[in-house]
Amino acid sequence: MALTISQASCADDYDPNSMPVAKAREFIQAFLTPIAGTARVPIRSALGRVVAEDIISPVNVPAHRNSAMDGWALRFADLDAAAESNLVEVGACFAGKPFNGTVGAKQCVRIFTGGVVPSECDTVIMQERASANGKSITVAAGAKHGQNVREAGEDLVAGAVALAKGRIVRAAELGLIASLGISEIAVVRPLRVAFFSTGDELVSIGSPLAAGEIFDSNRYTLFGMLHRMGIEAIDMGVVRDDPAILEAAFREAAGIADVVITSGGVSVGEADFVKTLLAKLGEVVFWKIAMKPGRPLAYGKIHNAHFFGLPGNPVSVMVTFYQFVRDALLTLQGVSPLPVQPLLKAVCTSPIKKATGRTEFQRGVLYVEEGVWKVRTTGQQGSGILKSMSDANCFIMLHDHVGNVDAGSTVDVQILEGIV
Ligand code: AMP
Ligand code: MG
Repeated sequence: MALTISQASCADDYDPNSMPVAKAREFIQAFLTPIAGTARVPIRSALGRVVAEDIISPVNVPAHRNSAMDGWALRFADLDAAAESNLVEVGACFAGKPFNGTVGAKQCVRIFTGGVVPSECDTVIMQERASANGKSITVAAGAKHGQNVREAGEDLVAGAVALAKGRIVRAAELGLIASLGISEIAVVRPLRVAFFSTGDELVSIGSPLAAGEIFDSNRYTLFGMLHRMGIEAIDMGVVRDDPAILEAAFREAAGIADVVITSGGVSVGEADFVKTLLAKLGEVVFWKIAMKPGRPLAYGKIHNAHFFGLPGNPVSVMVTFYQFVRDALLTLQGVSPLPVQPLLKAVCTSPIKKATGRTEFQRGVLYVEEGVWKVRTTGQQGSGILKSMSDANCFIMLHDHVGNVDAGSTVDVQILEGIV
């Protein structure tokens, strides 16, 4: 039986009122199919994009057998294993300028890093292990057969997959593609994400605030995170808590984007009318995730678009984006394998009060003191305190089973740099 989204809320082995983080991530993953649509682009424009078709190496890399060192290329058989050997230098071989003579018995050629190793030679002696007196070269004992020779095709054999479909193009990949002489590749088209904020109290920057109103910050953090991921972000502004206006916004967003992200409106008290509305437009589940911050979260489909209803609190938006949305957006772009989010162990220097049964993402500052990785909290952890995210360079990730943390205990830390 196919999994339906509504099952995610009534899976009987889990209390729908308290969905564990890992379980919610699994459910979301089960509904994601990578988008179709590719474009051929010059490789510089591929930076940050996802490779759409395996890139096959048209050549051997390196193309020729070449030297890994400055020194002399020779035939190993000409060397005395136990004593110094004397050879005659018959030419030189620079990077890009091969030696075009023949290397005979007891002969060698001067060679520089990257220089093509003559076909008669099998070994390169680094210059520190030899001495020259004019053209007479003395090689120290103890050389090894094949030393300092890089074989043709050692990095990549012609016909092999140089870069598989699903890989993100970063600096190393750009260089790798260029090393194959390839100037254009197929990449996955940018994912389109439409987002808006909900709430009658919200005002966009540029307009004055009336009593009780606040500036909308979530659209800016979302814009930042989406842009850092190379996603086409469509900002739909602030939408009033009004069923008709909200319905129109959801319909429009789902019509123009692959993914719709909203913030606010999913907490208890607000969720009811949004629930009714979304039930009409698609299939959406409302979870209470066993986590802090970020407890309320809605996920589902509105027409063909994936939908993430993030909580309204500014810190919760970022935490839920990092824990649920990021990987989903990568998967939709066909990224495979998903980049791991490393967890580091660090000594927590702040005592932390924590209830078991939920995962907490405390904002922390990771630092090194006398060679030991340590972390402290940023202080006040309210989910409305966005400065705690700005001051933080990591989350102190306290798992479900963890209770109060004493100063000096070891905790898991998730580094924010590079997550998006
Ligand atoms: P909600 O989830 O809509 O109940 O909102 C929770 C809290 O987050 C409330 O204090 C809201 O005022 C605040 N909030 C909601 N949306 C935003 C936003 N876009 N920017 C800043 N604060 C917000
Ligand atoms: Mg609200």
